[in-house]
Amino acid sequence: MTLRYSTDIVIFGGGIAGLWLLNRLKNEGYHPLLVETEFLGGGQTFASQGIIHGGLKYALGGSFTEAANAIASMPKAWQQCLKGNGDVDLTGVLILSDNYYMWSDGSLRSKLKTFLGSKSLAGRVHSLEPERYPEFFKNNVIDGTLYELPDFVIDSSSLVKKLRDNVSTVSPPIFSIEKDNYHFTKGGDISNYSLVLNSDNQEIVIEAERFIFCAGEGNAELIAQTNIQSVKAQVRPLHMVYLKSSQLPRVFVHCVGDNFSLTPKLTITSHADQQGQTVWYLGGELAEAGVRKNQSEQLKVAKNLVRKLFPRLDTSAAEWDSFIINRAEANIGNNYRPDDAYLLSEANIITAWPTKLTLTPSLADKVVNALRRDSVTASTSNGAINALSELLAQPGLAQNYWD
Ligand SMILES: Cc1cc2nc3c(=O)[nH]c(=O)nc-3n(C[C@H](O)[C@H](O)[C@H](O)COP(=O)(O)OP(=O)(O)OC[C@H]3O[C@@H](n4cnc5c(N)ncnc54)[C@H](O)[C@@H]3O)c2cc1C
Repeated sequence: MTLRYSTDIVIFGGGIAGLWLLNRLKNEGYHPLLVETEFLGGGQTFASQGIIHGGLKYALGGSFTEAANAIASMPKAWQQCLKGNGDVDLTGVLILSDNYYMWSDGSLRSKLKTFLGSKSLAGRVHSLEPERYPEFFKNNVIDGTLYELPDFVIDSSSLVKKLRDNVSTVSPPIFSIEKDNYHFTKGGDISNYSLVLNSDNQEIVIEAERFIFCAGEGNAELIAQTNIQSVKAQVRPLHMVYLKSSQLPRVFVHCVGDNFSLTPKLTITSHADQQGQTVWYLGGELAEAGVRKNQSEQLKVAKNLVRKLFPRLDTSAAEWDSFIINRAEANIGNNYRPDDAYLLSEANIITAWPTKLTLTPSLADKVVNALRRDSVTASTSNGAINALSELLAQPGLAQNYWD
């Protein structure tokens, strides 16, 4: 038996990109539905450090680049959503820290001072007097300068839950599909491609004005399945480390460079596991350089680095672990990270990557503009979603890596 439905928008992938678009496009009057092969948030989104960057991290690489410019307006867009005045309602999402800090040891002080005094950054980054240091730095930092950045840190799991619950706490238009049980056909009444879901005794065909591929690393497989030609995917791995203990203070800081580089050696964010222990989640250069190391080598390097940076910190009760995860992005030809969120339209498919969690509002603007440009109209009813709710299960929320 074949069941046929049509709707305006079908989104693939329930990470930040797909869930944000589901909210934004619903607010724009569409009737979008989302399909997910695993758990919501379980790709890069739950692995992210949750830092909403204001661009300084990229500016540290040298000049004030395109990437730094694209990202500079993002904290404000997020703040508006968090206050309930933005394109998507994020009220109630847990903010882990209102500020992010950057600490440079003594050797870099003059280099940083010159750099931060540059016109493009003037007024956006402040060095703190020691009496204004957060408690941890008062007790653990011996030398150097602490800067307060316009960045802040959100809790990815609370963000994903909010975006799901916004569209309905009872029956969100978010459906599980099985990895090996769907394919695409070309043709159909309103589009070039249609989605076909196979189950034991029936076939469900979904036609849509637009399919939006927001499946992170999974976009590569979707591109291959549809054989679209114009867009290529790439991945760049990270070897992330975390340590957890009830004794750890909560810390949010980029520890910057050695004598030659301003790139953060270590990027620390603090989270909580299910037992309420503090989790220090470690990225930055440690994670980039660590992809060629096995787990025991990587943990050894991480332990030495933390000991060297914070000699007074007692981590003897901490439990350490690490994992490798890919960042997934568009390959725009040079194997570097694109400067902004990226999308490409081909036939009735939009393939999209936010590039950074921070840049998701920019991705949503680009998608809305593409739909307007192509005069994609909203369907008149929720019929397809109501019918699919009877046929398909809903994916659960993923767990944090440290749980
Ligand atoms: C370790 C790490 C730390 C990071 N830290 C930060 C940070 O602090 N700040 C920041 O701005 N950015 C950060 N990023 C980048 C940010 O996490 C990502 O850009 C963002 O989460 C990507 O979201 P996404 O929705 O595109 O992909 P994902 O979160 O990967 O979601 C993709 C979803 O698609 C699903 N899927 C896969 N295949 C299919 C399919 N065929 N059909 C349907 N669904 C499918 C997956 O199961 C998954 O749920 C970090 C990334 C990593 C890896």
